[in-house]
Amino acid sequence: MRLIEPDWGISRNIKAFVTCRGHGFSKAPYNSLNLSNQVGDVDKSVEKNRGLLDLPGEPRYLTQVHGNECVPACRASRGVKADASFTAKRNEVLTVLVADCVPVLFANKNGTRVGAAHAGWRGLANGVLRRTAEAIGLSSLSAWIGPCIGPCHYSVKRDVFDRFPTDLGFKEISMNRWEMDLAGIAEAQLIGLGVQVYGGGFCTFCDEENFFSYRRDGKTGRMGAFIWIQ
Ligand SMILES: [Zn+2]
Repeated sequence: MRLIEPDWGISRNIKAFVTCRGHGFSKAPYNSLNLSNQVGDVDKSVEKNRGLLDLPGEPRYLTQVHGNECVPACRASRGVKADASFTAKRNEVLTVLVADCVPVLFANKNGTRVGAAHAGWRGLANGVLRRTAEAIGLSSLSAWIGPCIGPCHYSVKRDVFDRFPTDLGFKEISMNRWEMDLAGIAEAQLIGLGVQVYGGGFCTFCDEENFFSYRRDGKTGRMGAFIWIQ
């Protein structure tokens, strides 16, 4: 299984990775390491895929709704509608599932608190990253931006553009069309909060071999971003 591990100089007791799409059990169009049981894949395949992950406990899967709610991990479980969670407890595995939206993993410098957030344009517009960072605590906080759709493959119209206070992260490409840089906007928001930012530079749409992309394929699987305190 191919995993992407953040390179962010954080305390070594923090474990984190994002899965890629290969080496799982799901059949097309979810091939193959799909981790979501809400996208139409066979439950058995998802279960087997989840079973391949080397984790210290059952991950706290959320019901993601493109909102801005960040819940403590003890309240995070299937059925809880939230797009982010945080914890200070060891071996409590946080996760968000993505296929174009931005996964953001958080940890403080001494490795005592972590968080995970899922942010598409709605989440970014509604402040999910700020709420997550504040829930964890803003002092000496680092964040890593995982694989999401790049501006090369993400254009939006005025309804999205107008939801943001500035044109930072947008490039006008034609009448009523902007290229939108989700990772760039996430980074700017985090820097504005005083968070040290790492990662970025991926495009899920461009890299079909490694990533699911909702914009590219429609019906498709989800990668998972995971973080915990060892
Ligand atoms: Zn691209």
